[in-house]
Amino acid sequence: MPKVSDLTSRLTYLKPEDTAQIEAAFQLSDTAHTGQFRVSGEPYISHPLAVAEILAEWHLDAQALMAALLHDVMEDTAITKQEIGEKFGKAVAELVDGVSKLDKIEFQTEVHAQAENFRKMLLAMARDVRVILIKIADRLHNMRTLGAMAPEKRQRIARETLEIYAPIANRLGLNSVYDELEDLSFRHLYPNRFDVLAKAVKAARGNRREVVGKVLEAINQKLKDCQIEATITGREKHLYSIYKKMQGKSLTFSEVFDIYGFRVIVKDVPTCYLTLGALHQLYKPIPGKFKDYIAIPKANGYQSLHTTLFGPFGTPIEIQIRSQDMHKIAEAGVASHWLYKSGDAEINEMQQKTHNWLQSLLEIQSESGDATEFLEHIKVDLFPD
Ligand code: MN
Repeated sequence: MPKVSDLTSRLTYLKPEDTAQIEAAFQLSDTAHTGQFRVSGEPYISHPLAVAEILAEWHLDAQALMAALLHDVMEDTAITKQEIGEKFGKAVAELVDGVSKLDKIEFQTEVHAQAENFRKMLLAMARDVRVILIKIADRLHNMRTLGAMAPEKRQRIARETLEIYAPIANRLGLNSVYDELEDLSFRHLYPNRFDVLAKAVKAARGNRREVVGKVLEAINQKLKDCQIEATITGREKHLYSIYKKMQGKSLTFSEVFDIYGFRVIVKDVPTCYLTLGALHQLYKPIPGKFKDYIAIPKANGYQSLHTTLFGPFGTPIEIQIRSQDMHKIAEAGVASHWLYKSGDAEINEMQQKTHNWLQSLLEIQSESGDATEFLEHIKVDLFPD
């Protein structure tokens, strides 16, 4: 049986009284969904619980977690918005209502309809960004458990995820969610191609190991000599992005895969620039490839230094350098802006920024009647690169 402790054990970042409220929301949802089961045969409550756990990983606040636990009760049980409001407050009731309304939006899957889809999502978000974050966590869990569905339904949901939810996650800067949604969709839409590519990546990884090991060792040594403390990791493209590049640019697998990526995470901004200098001493930079997204962040808040170096054997290696704070934003995007309010001035400032960002999107949206034109604005203004 799904237990609420699976969730509450992860809530060390919240106050004890918040956790008690979350437990109460779980009880209500569990009782309301009694006798309902998922296609996999599990009790239905396992789904809202898993959605809340995903949001807890993103460190969302107590209201969002309560709403996640209750996100299907208005649709599937006798519980009303009013009842939720009386028990857990107006904000939670509005969130659940927002998610339920979003479920009723009909999305179109033609390419030209993407702008319209995104516009609909934005309108839902205007009320509260957390609505969309709950919806994306909901879709992520449904995709993770898609195997239980009949093949035809699996295909339909995977296509919708690829065409609607993954691009939205991308635009919101939810990078690891975006990668996962794309790969899960890819696996269910094109199982054979997915398998072939997964095997190819596994095999190629063996050949890469020598170069990766050599570069990691050299970077580690150089930074140690410069007394810079850093965490260095190798980066690999996710399967669907390899597939798209091969398709789109008619490249071979090795042309796409044989680019080496590394990420260096350090403690603060000055150390980012020190690290950049040290690495340019170690390997020569390729001219024209350096980008300073710390001085000039992307509009969705992303910050990092990007450079490409001539590595050993002349192999190009792409490096991202960022601080721990920047890393959080890079991984979780808008969700990281909506972190649990810790009273931390910097975090509250980020929430204000997110709010301004959404407001500016909506102003653009109301000024331009045409959805395609609206999408162009977003591309130009908010996602340069
Ligand atoms: Mn759901």
